[in-house]
Amino acid sequence: MVPAAEEHTPARLTVLSGPSGVGKGTVVAEVRRRYPEVWVSVSATTRRPRPGEVDGVHYHFVDDVEFDRLIAEDGLIEWAEYAGNRYGTPAAPVRDRLAIGAPALLEIELQGARQVRARDAGAQLVFLAPPSWAELVSRLAGRGSEPPAVQERRLAIAQAELDAAGEFDVVVVNDDVARAADELVGLLTAPSPGFLRSSGASE
Ligand code: ADP
Ligand code: 5GP
Repeated sequence: MVPAAEEHTPARLTVLSGPSGVGKGTVVAEVRRRYPEVWVSVSATTRRPRPGEVDGVHYHFVDDVEFDRLIAEDGLIEWAEYAGNRYGTPAAPVRDRLAIGAPALLEIELQGARQVRARDAGAQLVFLAPPSWAELVSRLAGRGSEPPAVQERRLAIAQAELDAAGEFDVVVVNDDVARAADELVGLLTAPSPGFLRSSGASE
């Protein structure tokens, strides 16, 4: 049962970002598996599905015309072009979720995280970092879902993304999937600094 709104810590939007191959999808899948009550936004993308990806579960797979329509209708909280495809967060489900006082999690890339910050100063930005650059390269290659040229493109972007870690509120190191998932869930349900100040709670 959802408690009455006044019993709640105000709902907070949390953004998980980090370089391609760091393990964002893996950590979010672990969160979904062990904490099914955590709500994760399903993005729209013009990218083709990878084997095993299900429309409406992993992404809403759309064509360029449909993506243009979503932008024109102001149906996306944020969107970005990444490695040749477009990705965006449908606005309505996130608004509905926050409106009932429940936290929402977005797993998006850096440009989108910056757009969320610009629109919602209270959003919590979490950066998922690799234990080392070598480990990131090995994870991206090990996933085997992209040809070498695409991996190179993603690694070039990843270097710039790592440089932006300082813009985030919290850095979680993905050394171990279960540990990183626990840390992320703790952050999702932590009271926001604004709430602690206004309620007089100690920080
Ligand atoms: P992203 O969504 O950030 O692009 P993925 O979740 O697809 O990354 O993970 C990339 C690869 O790294 C996958 O093969 C995944 O199994 C592996 N991986 C993820 N987290 C860890 C971890 N903590 N330790 C070792 N391998 C990991
Ligand atoms: P992938 O193709 O590996 O699934 O995702 C590529 C990148 O797009 C990842 O960094 C992922 O976090 C990001 N991404 C997924 N959905 C969205 C979204 O809705 N908006 C933005 N800005 N990035 C997204």
